[in-house]
Order: sequence, then C-alpha cells, then structure tokens
Amino acid sequence: MTALAWLRNDLRLHDNPALHAAAELQQGVIAVYVHCEAYVTRFPIAPARLDFTRRHLRLLTEELARHSISLQVLRVAQAHEIAPALAKLVQDHGISHCFFNAEYPLDELNRDQQVNQLLRAHGVTVKRCHDRVIIPPGKVRNEAGMPYKVFTPYKRKWLQLASLLPLRPLGAPTRQAAQPCPSASAQDIDRLFDGRELRDLSAHWPAGEAVARTRLQRFIAQDLSNYQTQRDLPAVAGTSGLSPYLAIGALSPRQALADVLTHTGGDWDANAGVSTWISELIWREFYQHLVVDYPQVCMHRAMQVHTEAFPWRHAPEDFALWREGRTGIPIIDAAMRQLNTTGWMHNRLRMLVAMFLSKNLQIDWRWGERYFMEQLIDGDFAANNGGWQWSASTGTDAAPYFRIFNPITQSQRFDPQGQFIREWLPELAGLSDKAIHAPHLVPSGPPPGYPAPMVDLGASRKATIALFASLGQPPESEPGMTENFPTETRSAPFRPG
Ligand SMILES: Cc1cc2nc3c(=O)[nH]c(=O)nc-3n(C[C@H](O)[C@H](O)[C@H](O)COP(=O)(O)OP(=O)(O)OC[C@H]3O[C@@H](n4cnc5c(N)ncnc54)[C@H](O)[C@@H]3O)c2cc1C
Repeated sequence: MTALAWLRNDLRLHDNPALHAAAELQQGVIAVYVHCEAYVTRFPIAPARLDFTRRHLRLLTEELARHSISLQVLRVAQAHEIAPALAKLVQDHGISHCFFNAEYPLDELNRDQQVNQLLRAHGVTVKRCHDRVIIPPGKVRNEAGMPYKVFTPYKRKWLQLASLLPLRPLGAPTRQAAQPCPSASAQDIDRLFDGRELRDLSAHWPAGEAVARTRLQRFIAQDLSNYQTQRDLPAVAGTSGLSPYLAIGALSPRQALADVLTHTGGDWDANAGVSTWISELIWREFYQHLVVDYPQVCMHRAMQVHTEAFPWRHAPEDFALWREGRTGIPIIDAAMRQLNTTGWMHNRLRMLVAMFLSKNLQIDWRWGERYFMEQLIDGDFAANNGGWQWSASTGTDAAPYFRIFNPITQSQRFDPQGQFIREWLPELAGLSDKAIHAPHLVPSGPPPGYPAPMVDLGASRKATIALFASLGQPPESEPGMTENFPTETRSAPFRPG
C-alpha cells in the first residue's frame, strides 16, 4: 500500500503537513501534481506564475527523489477530470491514503470535495491538512462566535491564539525505503505546460525552496528591524520579496513567522519592524479567512453589497492606458511598468494604482483585479481580491470611500527624489526632484513623448466621493454570510462593464 500526497500551491518539502503525514505512514509515497487546462484558462494566472511553478516543480522532483518519494505529474483538460485521474492513480499504485493541504476559494473547495468523494468510494482514506495559514479558518472568532469584519480586533484575537501555538515548523518528510515508481522527469514537467504562454522571470525570481529560505534569512538579518519605515519606499528593497514563494508554497507562513521569532528570541514585539511585518502576515491570513467566511467574494461580488450599485465606467481605452503605464501620472506609470516587467509591484504602489483605477478613472475594480492576476508572479486570489476591495472601498474594513490617495502627493512623500520614477520612466530622468512627480505642472510641460494626465485628479476625486455618498450607508447586517449562493463562481468568466 502506498500513500499519496497531492501537491498544489504547497510546493515544498519542509513544513508540508500533507507530505509529512503521507511519509509518516512509511509505506512508500507518491506525490502528485495535477495541471488542469481549463483551470488555468478560466482563472487568470500569470504566465510568469505558471513558469515559476514549472521551474519549481523541476527542482522539487529531484528533492523528493532524494527522499525516495516519487513525483507524478498529470495533465487533464477539464476540472471534472481531476477526480477520475486521481482515482486511476490510486488504482494503478494500490494507494490507501491521500493527503492534501487545503485551498480555500470556492472552486478549489468544490474540486477537493469531488476528489474526496471519489477516492473514498475507492476505499482510500482522505485527509485534508492546513498549511496555507498559521491558524486555520473558522478558529478566529469574536465573543458571539462570528467571524471578524474588522482587521484590528481580528489581529488581536489572532495574536492571542497564535501565542498559544507551538509554531514549530515540520522538517522534511521521513525518507522512504524505496521509490514506488519513477519520478517525473524535467521534460515530463515541461510537457505539462505545452501550449501555454510562459514567462521566464528567473533573473528576478529564481525558483526553489532553498532560495525562499535564504531570502527570508537575508531579510530578517538586514531589513526586518527597519521594515516599518522602509516598506513604504518603492525605491528601496525594504520588504521581503517573499510573496511569490508564499503564493506557490515554496515557503509556509509558519516557517516565516518561526524564523522571525527564532531571531528575536520569541519576542513578537522586539521592535517596530518585527511587529509591523508580523502584522502583514496577519493581513494575509485575514484575507484567506474572509474567502471562507464570505464566499461571495469568490463570485466576483463586493463584500459591501450596496457598493454593487456604483456606476463603474465602461472605458476600455482608459483601462488600456492604465495597463500600459501611459496615464500621465508618473508614479502610476512607473508602478505599472514595474508590474509589466517584473511580475511584481510594491505594496504601496498596488494601493495607489488600484485607487487610481477605481476612484479616479471609476473603472470597475474587478477589471484591475483580473489584470493583476494575469501579470503577478505572486498572484493569490485571497490577497489580491482583498487588496482590490480595500482600495476600491467595497471590502470589509476597506479604505473609507472619501479617503482617496492623491498619487502626486503620495509620490512626493514616498519617492521624494523620484528615484523609483527615474528607474522605470527613463524619459523623465532629466527632470528635477520637484518636477518629476507632476511634469505637466512645469511651465515647459512634460518631455516629448510623455502624456499629459489622462484625468483631472481633483475633479474625479470629488465626483467619485459624490457617487459613493449617493449609495447610502451599508445596511446593519452587511457584510454578511450569504446563504443560497448562486452556482456561478469565479470560474465563470467575469463580463466587464
Ligand atoms: C491591490 C492589491 C493587490 C494585491 N495582490 C496581491 C497578490 O495577488 N498576492 C499577494 O501575495 N499579495 C498581494 N497584495 C498584498 C501585497 O501588496 C503583497 O503581498 C506585497 O507587496 C508582497 O511583497 P513582499 O513579499 O515584499 O511583502 P512584505 O512586505 O515583506 O510582507 C510579507 C508577506 O506578508 C504578506 N502581505 C504583505 N502585505 C499584505 C497585504 N496587504 N495583504 C495580504 N498579504 C500581505 C505577503 O504574503 C508578503 O509576502 C496586494 C495588495 C494590493 C493593495
């Protein structure tokens, strides 16, 4: 009898509860990765993220083989073929147990439910573990036993609960006596992605669990203690750059937290850098938990239902200017070029470009949400949806609709010498530190080739605030858990406008 570990966005050996549990049985382990064509076609997944996964799987198959664990890779056309494909694997290899780590969006839950049912029907013991978050969904509850809607009390409760946990990451899985079958070769892995657009960003984002751990250690040693100030400066590499590794699970959040606490001798508040970074990890968990508690977000819905009435503009041409970084607002354009080139964008800039799209251009935040997923190497449904709904003031505990960032003053504050703008907009490099934030205000105007702002920031801000005000207040019960969901989920195409 063999045990199966079904790997998804948990591509690592260490601190992998599903893999660990399979290996503990000591009866031989097959790890399997399933690539579903329909899945990657329907959900926006960046070619950079797909390629990152491919490169990572190539390393993982070798690492697993060193522990005498075989990696199998399967390719299916449709989501409903995943369960039968795994059932065949189970039959072919006499598998008695199947372990996987939970993924929380609705489509993934449905997929896992189908697999669970079919494998159980084949007599397989199926176990779901939790690795995506430090505290599994459903555990962080208020006095009334309800999920939190506001981050600060959620964080307080989360910290209380986490401080009681051992937080000891699991090691690598126990070495097995023998490999049950040959492992997938590098070519087998490459073939999984045949016909898909891939984008190799290995120069920016090398693959591998070891790379992720080294980045974490370097961040802790060099940048963590100044994180609370450095994290807002896009020209400074003051954040960890770990999001792509957390997104595909090359690193677990528990490993990240445990390494920080080892460094501080167990002090969660060792300095402002430490507590601020831990807070960001908790934001990550907050959004993962929201997906479970309010699954309407998996259906292209706003958390604050009354904001669904906002009259978003159908403006594909303006959307194209935003996407291509040709808005005429330098910090926005520099940010979009960073995204389009590196597959990643600094957090402050994500907030700025998201607010600019939704509040100044009044374009539906879901257009931006989708575009981010098409580009980001760290694309993660929960964090991305949470970030967009925060910026568009449609989410729970979102930015209040009347507090709209002015991208020019933000640029002056967080990129005072225009270093970041100069890096991404060489056409503006010759401007003074003062002029670079708003070249259209210089008497001579912007340099040739650089556009004037596509929108009046002040007038659009006023108009958006008035439109939001006209929507009225959210009803008392909102946002609430939705019952009787329609069957449409995020796998159904979103029809813009
Ligand atoms: C509109 C918008 C879209 C976003 N889309 C994504 C996304 O698809 N994937 C993604 O991982 N993050 C997303 N974020 C959150 C955040 O911008 C990135 O996690 C962060 O910039 C990653 O850089 P880092 O690893 O250097 O972060 P650090 O500052 O070093 O933070 C450490 C980790 O904490 C988590 N984290 C940090 N900030 C946030 C946050 N605000 N919300 C949730 N988790 C956070 C990330 O996992 C990050 O790697 C989005 C934010 C916004 C405003």
